[in-house]
Amino acid sequence: MSRPDQDHAERLMRFLFALRSHGVTDARVLDAMERIDRGAFVKGIFAERAYDDMPLPIACGQTISQPSVVGLMTQALNPQARDTVLEVGTGSGYQAAILSLLCRRVYTVDRHRRLVREAQEVFQRLGLANIISFAADGSFGLPDQAPFDRILVTAAAEDAPGPLLAQLKIGGIMVLPVGQSDAVQRLIKVTRTETGYEYEELRPVRFVPLVEGMASDEGPTPRGP
Ligand code: SAH
Repeated sequence: MSRPDQDHAERLMRFLFALRSHGVTDARVLDAMERIDRGAFVKGIFAERAYDDMPLPIACGQTISQPSVVGLMTQALNPQARDTVLEVGTGSGYQAAILSLLCRRVYTVDRHRRLVREAQEVFQRLGLANIISFAADGSFGLPDQAPFDRILVTAAAEDAPGPLLAQLKIGGIMVLPVGQSDAVQRLIKVTRTETGYEYEELRPVRFVPLVEGMASDEGPTPRGP
């Protein structure tokens, strides 16, 4: 094995070890995370940290989540092969890519048009054809595509948004961080039953806030020549 291959194999082994030691034990989730190269979703100076178990900055002042948190959230969501999943908060697209290997179709939305555009390019490059992404305010969900088997929110709201609860199928699961944006939040799992919703608290987490409305900050407008 040549040196670069060896480096890659070692990095991948360390990456998977970090996931397991943080409690990611579901074989399907580990397999998906082994197959999706996080390096494809991190740009510029942070690219070399792509295989470290830490959140990293992406464009528009947002972050790509820590891999072990992605693993734990995916595991809690327990996506099934025939499921249609909604992700709120596309960000880099990494989480959506993992989900795309585990279910039939993934809808993912972000309020930053630029992030959606860049994530779409990566999905295309990796041949992930079952991800449909939109620039939209995800706090309202996607009424036209609802209901969903699973909903994953990767930005923190103070409470589970009503429209998302309403767009969950009976028997469906939603995983989301809740709490004030400047404090430690709690990751919760909501299961919709015939008669209502069951809530389970999973662990403390820290996410960027779920912000209402589309973002207008597309960065500085390029100047003409
Ligand atoms: N899942 C991402 C990380 C998400 S960071 C990944 O794998 O890289 C949280 C994202 O939520 C940010 O990109 C932010 O723009 C987005 N976001 C915040 N509020 C939103 C809203 N109301 N609707 C859609 N996206 C939102």
